[in-house]
Amino acid sequence: MTPRTVLPLVLAAVLAAGCSSVDFWKDQFSAPTPPPGLRTSDRQGEPAQSAKPAEPAGQTFDEDVELARTFTERYWRQEFQAAGKTYRPLQKFVGYSGDGGPDCGGQPALPENAFYCPVGHFVAYDKDWLRSLYDESGDGAVYVIIPHEIGHAVQAQLMSDFSLNVQRELQADCYGGGALKGLIDEKQLEAENGDDEELLANLAAAGDPTDAWWRPDAHGTPVQRQQAFASGFTKGVGAC
Ligand SMILES: [Zn+2]
Repeated sequence: MTPRTVLPLVLAAVLAAGCSSVDFWKDQFSAPTPPPGLRTSDRQGEPAQSAKPAEPAGQTFDEDVELARTFTERYWRQEFQAAGKTYRPLQKFVGYSGDGGPDCGGQPALPENAFYCPVGHFVAYDKDWLRSLYDESGDGAVYVIIPHEIGHAVQAQLMSDFSLNVQRELQADCYGGGALKGLIDEKQLEAENGDDEELLANLAAAGDPTDAWWRPDAHGTPVQRQQAFASGFTKGVGAC
């Protein structure tokens, strides 16, 4: 089986089964050996990624975080262009430690969190927290959380309106799944064995710390979040 066939199969199974996955993370990822990472492809590499075309990129936490940001924004730039719109890049992309994060419109950043701030049009993440997820369970955490936050940046630009916060959150999950699939289809990323489990586990168990100070209970159940992500992944962002 080629790696690229793995994700859709498992995501489809989740969609069909709607399995309860509250304890998925702890059950599946207590092993000390992290799974291999998502890799950039050496085929049709763009100049910006061609410095080491035959090498798998994103072999460190810092590389994966930067790639997740760069690739996701590149994806959305193309999507906006195709729709006759112009994507506005993030103003800032900030890693912080503990209490030292940037405030958002007067609201302090929380430790163990990641968020999009519409006031400054930036994404910030607790890098120690995200790194601990990465070390624990592989790079799936990075490739779920960063695209999710950038999904909120997309919503802001599209001026998407929601009556419930949970709708906003689930759409961001859907956008994350759709962007990731788009990048895999474009050969920017290749899924590897274990990636599907990482992605789904992070959706189920890492929860959505983003925006937690606004509506802490309205981010969707683990199953809802997995299904939203899978929906984007299988149908594309147009279905979100
Ligand atoms: Zn969110």
